[in-house]
Amino acid sequence: MNLKQVRRCVLYARLSVTKEESVSIARQLQSCRRYAEARGWEIVGEFVDDGVSATANRPEERLGWKSLLAARDFDAVIIWKVDRLARRVLDFLHADETLQKRGAGLVAVEDPIDMTSPQGRAFAVMLAVFGEMEAEAIRARVRAARAQILKDGRWPGGGIPYGYQSVPNPDGPGRVLMKDVERIGWLSDAVAKALRGETVNAIATWLTKSGAPLPVRRAERTSGSTSWNRQTVDGLLRNPVLAGMTPHNPGRAKSTKRVDPFAVLRDDRDRPVVNEALAIVSFDEFESLQRLLDARTVPQARKQSERQATSPFLSRVARCDECAVFLCRGTNQKRPVLYCPSCRQTIGRTALDAYLIDRLLLERGNAMVGDLAVEEAWARAGHDDKARRTVLVSQLDALVVRRGVVGRYFDEDRVLLTWRCEL
Ligand SMILES: [Zn+2]
Repeated sequence: MNLKQVRRCVLYARLSVTKEESVSIARQLQSCRRYAEARGWEIVGEFVDDGVSATANRPEERLGWKSLLAARDFDAVIIWKVDRLARRVLDFLHADETLQKRGAGLVAVEDPIDMTSPQGRAFAVMLAVFGEMEAEAIRARVRAARAQILKDGRWPGGGIPYGYQSVPNPDGPGRVLMKDVERIGWLSDAVAKALRGETVNAIATWLTKSGAPLPVRRAERTSGSTSWNRQTVDGLLRNPVLAGMTPHNPGRAKSTKRVDPFAVLRDDRDRPVVNEALAIVSFDEFESLQRLLDARTVPQARKQSERQATSPFLSRVARCDECAVFLCRGTNQKRPVLYCPSCRQTIGRTALDAYLIDRLLLERGNAMVGDLAVEEAWARAGHDDKARRTVLVSQLDALVVRRGVVGRYFDEDRVLLTWRCEL
């Protein structure tokens, strides 16, 4: 393919999610258009990938590049620079090969590449090599800078935990955390209450009633609201900063909702690095606090009657022994129950849910759900009853409820539970 024969071309521009480059899509397209104009080429299409990091995926996985390849009748693709197409040499060569197969050439406005001669190809490969090295260097720089900041005991940025504030580092550049005198007392009291066994709901109510200042960011977002909720309290009781530790979870996807309270910065011997100036509890106290909170995520610790009746946790899970139909969710004298729509037998949810959860974690805690252990999948599901249901159902072979004497007390013998066979 000789570029002198080019008549019709398409443009391709890409902006990655990372802030490593500043040339906008609009400017990339503009210079590509000028390039085409100067040569008298007709532009028959413009394709864009916005917010896709070239290091994260290959050209053929990007929507914009895919639609470009699906387009017809063009002899050349104009890009602004080689690194817009790919940051890895193999990806670059692969994309170019695809274009060659369909008789199209690749040109870059800023890089003098000419894929029609061996010398030109060699030069393009060299540019791609530099692009790859540069991308790796940028990643390494970011990692190293963050590691150094943490090692120095500085605050790397991000959400500041309740009870603390960031202040200019007295010993050098950057910022450090310190206790926020206005809020740290509330935090200590909340932690002490939780350690004494008070529920997260009770603590949230107490904070609201006592007029404890809300977390700064929440106060800004919901101006006027002064009430604390369970999620906020639960989150601050699980923050490793309570024991002076620094959250640190390299390589973990940001989308993972649940924070692992023990994913913290550790020293060479894998011991958590502790900043005593920030700690309000010892490591041991922090550990038992986490155990208490985990134990409390079973349903009876929450406002149960209305919650459990509508909770999807046991939706279409248990069947009636006599009628073989699924039991429905409902209430009986304001208490949550499952009932059979056909024969009307009922069983109380409060004890049943707790019983099922106990057995699930005890008997199937180490079984696998996808690539997670049940225990871990359960912890990740948190308070999300749909996610909890998925974990339970993944292990369940059958759950059948037999008729029993209706009464206050939970009778285990009514519940016939069989787990799925391990493969
Ligand atoms: Zn029935």
